[in-house]
Amino acid sequence: MDAEIIAVGSELLLGQIVNTNARFLSQQLAGLGINVYFHTVVGDNPDRLKTAIELAEKRADLVIFSGGLGPTKDDLTKETIARHLGKELVIDEKALSSIEVFFQRTNRIMTENNRKQALVLQGAQILPNDHGMAPGMVVESNGHTYMLLPGPPKELEPMFIQYGCQALSNRNQTNEKIVSRVLRFFGIGEAALETEILDLIDAQSNPTIAPLAGDGEVTLRLTARHVDEKKAQLMLDELENTINERVGEFLYGYDNTSLLEEVMKILKTSQLTITAAESLTGGLFQQGLTAIPGASSVFYGGIVCYSNQVKQQLLQVRQETLDTQGAVSEQCAKELAENASTIFKTDVGISFTGVAGPEELEGKPVGTVYIGIAIKGRTTRVEKITLSGTREANRNRAVKFGCSFLLRSLKESQNAN
Ligand code: ATP
Repeated sequence: MDAEIIAVGSELLLGQIVNTNARFLSQQLAGLGINVYFHTVVGDNPDRLKTAIELAEKRADLVIFSGGLGPTKDDLTKETIARHLGKELVIDEKALSSIEVFFQRTNRIMTENNRKQALVLQGAQILPNDHGMAPGMVVESNGHTYMLLPGPPKELEPMFIQYGCQALSNRNQTNEKIVSRVLRFFGIGEAALETEILDLIDAQSNPTIAPLAGDGEVTLRLTARHVDEKKAQLMLDELENTINERVGEFLYGYDNTSLLEEVMKILKTSQLTITAAESLTGGLFQQGLTAIPGASSVFYGGIVCYSNQVKQQLLQVRQETLDTQGAVSEQCAKELAENASTIFKTDVGISFTGVAGPEELEGKPVGTVYIGIAIKGRTTRVEKITLSGTREANRNRAVKFGCSFLLRSLKESQNAN
């Protein structure tokens, strides 16, 4: 199946919002093994939408629309498609009653144009909207499949995952099972990773390899098709092994995990507790860790030690260290990590000290960061990194590097025991 995504909305063309729906849908369709060859954006104009539909029909079997299902006059996706396909719009009683319930529950008066949201294309399969009012739908006509989804991502995304995927899998009639696996890498750039596996990307057909970069991380989504699901998994295993032979040292996890979640997992399985002394990151590491359910079993507390006074008085960094080497130094990071774990009586202490920017500090350039890792029974390690982003990016990236170093140290420590 080849697909085209048509995002409808003048606000997209005016640059007021970003077309995140297209990105989301493309990622999902890749996972289903459906090729996406075109993204189209069109304003709230029936003639131009009709032109876009006619073009999409020439180059895709499946056309997915996002937006324009709402109650207002400029929401015209359904009407335009109905006219184009020569189909009636009819009230869907289930959708109407859930809209009525929504208004009763929120104590609001339902207006006539809200009824419009319960209008669906005759003969369409309805995709319930569990997070809003306008239902989605899938309809077949002249060998094409049309899927209509609401614009708000908080409605579109769960609707697609909950109901849309299945509707498409049922139509993408082959006996083949499609399995996907996302490999997550940190510490290697997208270009470098791609260079390492360029021959595999060039030769890909089944399994396919889809790289994606963002936020200092790179992911590879591997997708295999086979009538036997176990065989498809084996195909993924084989490809993953080949990839890991080349870049496996940067692989930290699979699918929807994060570096912090992996840190949490390994601390839990090793039954270790952790504390943190954070200067430039101002508590970001601790905030991230405590955002994960179950953090209390590994994390007792920590200190944001932004000033030298706090580093010295609460974390007992030596005056001599601050005078001779400064707060942004290997020695300071070492003392912070070790002293924090002693004070909080934890197995592991991690520290972050550095220059987030925009001004340099102690004559050290912006982006200089030291991360200390003290693990009970092992020699304390300090890693120096040099970052080149904005203040915010440097602080966030420092936490990710910290997690990555910590993961490596904890794994080494596990192997040594
Ligand atoms: P509503 O019932 O809210 O009117 P709708 O299906 O008619 O929903 P639109 O009116 O086109 O959808 O868009 C509603 C909101 O959804 C937009 O203001 C925007 O915030 C978001 N949105 C629409 N299209 C996209 C898109 N392609 N990517 C990301 N967000 C979008």
